Amino acid sequence: MRLEDTMALKTANEYLDSMKKLSPHVYCGGKWVKNLLNNKITRSMVMANAAMYALAEDPKNKEVMVATSHLTGEPINRNLNVARNIHDLDMRQEMALLTSQTVGTCNYRCVGCDALNSLAATTWEMDRDLKTKYNENFNKWLKYAQANDLAVSGAITDAKGDRKKRPSEQEEPDTFVHLVEKRQDGIVVRGIKVSQSGAIGSHETLVLPGGALREGEEAFALAFAVQNSAPGITYICQYNAYSAEREFCEEESELGNTASGKLRRWSLTTSSFLGSGYSSAARPSTAGGWLRGSPRPTA
Ligand SMILES: Cc1cc2nc3c(=O)[nH]c(=O)nc-3n(C[C@H](O)[C@H](O)[C@H](O)COP(=O)(O)OP(=O)(O)OC[C@H]3O[C@@H](n4cnc5c(N)ncnc54)[C@H](O)[C@@H]3O)c2cc1C
Repeated sequence: MRLEDTMALKTANEYLDSMKKLSPHVYCGGKWVKNLLNNKITRSMVMANAAMYALAEDPKNKEVMVATSHLTGEPINRNLNVARNIHDLDMRQEMALLTSQTVGTCNYRCVGCDALNSLAATTWEMDRDLKTKYNENFNKWLKYAQANDLAVSGAITDAKGDRKKRPSEQEEPDTFVHLVEKRQDGIVVRGIKVSQSGAIGSHETLVLPGGALREGEEAFALAFAVQNSAPGITYICQYNAYSAEREFCEEESELGNTASGKLRRWSLTTSSFLGSGYSSAARPSTAGGWLRGSPRPTA
């Protein structure tokens, strides 16, 4: 299912409907979660995201939650905005306050917001200095994300392995996401990202390197977007005391925050998948690259 460009902000219900069409490969508490909305724990995360969409629907939150796309001039959710002035930065901060104070848990779209801001600047500088087309590719993806008001999570933290060693020195190479193969139509990557807040309930994940990389570490210098239920991705959810409390309580009203998940950390395990689309950008470089992620299944 490919989401059609609608150029409209999604309502909370439209977000929930869009989630029903995705089928990510998710495990939580050692069990396979077939349906995110039927599992008490995963549903609480999805409902937290729905609450963020609902906040943007409310006219009194418009200045904080809605911005104007610098690419199209259309109204967009602030979580998909590239900050271009002090007012944008102020409103980004106000959004963090409003969402935390209202929903009482993470705004799971916020890491994606920060990731796309860093990519907007980095790809622009790369194109200027290296004559690449990463920013052009990035903007095509951003327009798509904005037009469909997508929830985007950020996958920056790698599993890291032995902290004293560089990515290329690790005994287990998958502790950092890396390039496996470069193909005509994209790339194959492999590796583990950890602590991806809200990745299961997002439409897309932006994957970025978790630290500065050096000459010789080009295989780790990858930045791309990948669809939530793309083949090859497995999500292993954190299961903590709050999860157990939610899973086993008889009445959800006994919980401090009934609707929205308190549980915030999710692990994303990525086995190999094919990045396709703007393959000319699928070129690793020490400064990072940009490409569009796995092929989106068409309707
Ligand atoms: C609630 C929560 C939500 C999160 N959400 C996201 C998310 O959505 N997306 C995302 O990408 N990340 C997310 N993270 C991950 C977060 O960014 C990382 O936990 C953080 O960057 C630290 O990395 P780490 O846990 O691997 O710690 P480590 O790298 O293990 O660091 C632990 C400590 O050891 C020190 N240390 C590490 N290496 C060395 C060394 N070589 N020498 C000396 N000291 C060292 C560090 O300074 C630190 O004090 C989340 C984390 C939490 C807790």
